[in-house]
Amino acid sequence: MATIFSRIINGEIPCYKIAENDKFFAFLDINPVSKGHTLVVPKKEVNYIFTLGDEELGEMMVFAKKVAAAIEKAMPCKRIGVAVIGLEVPHAHIHLIPIVEEGDMDFKKEHVHLTNDEFLDIQKRIVEQF
Ligand code: 5GP
Repeated sequence: MATIFSRIINGEIPCYKIAENDKFFAFLDINPVSKGHTLVVPKKEVNYIFTLGDEELGEMMVFAKKVAAAIEKAMPCKRIGVAVIGLEVPHAHIHLIPIVEEGDMDFKKEHVHLTNDEFLDIQKRIVEQF
């Protein structure tokens, strides 16, 4: 069965898309740790990021770098934190999280609750930076 991320990539499930190319897809996390929290996923269904081949892993990071640059310009932050967890969705993904301090990377803290309009506004602000 297709993963939830494959269904998002295929357009079966809606998302706030940030960017895509032939191999990778980026969209806003639905339960963000901070405003602008974005996921980068390979279109190829791979459970664990480190099972990707060297070349694909490199390409994924280069794609994530471009997405991170756009997020950094759009969202007030000091850095874009990078995390790989993968305990919830068995489809490799990189979390890109705008942060001001170390604690902003804490996935256990209260997440940010956003309305549809707020998600759309963040999506627009980031997409404009490409
Ligand atoms: P992880 O697998 O890295 O532990 O967490 C998966 C991440 O995917 C979580 O941050 C969660 O909020 C996000 N996520 C899970 N399902 C969906 C979904 O249907 N849409 C979006 N946009 N994000 C999701």
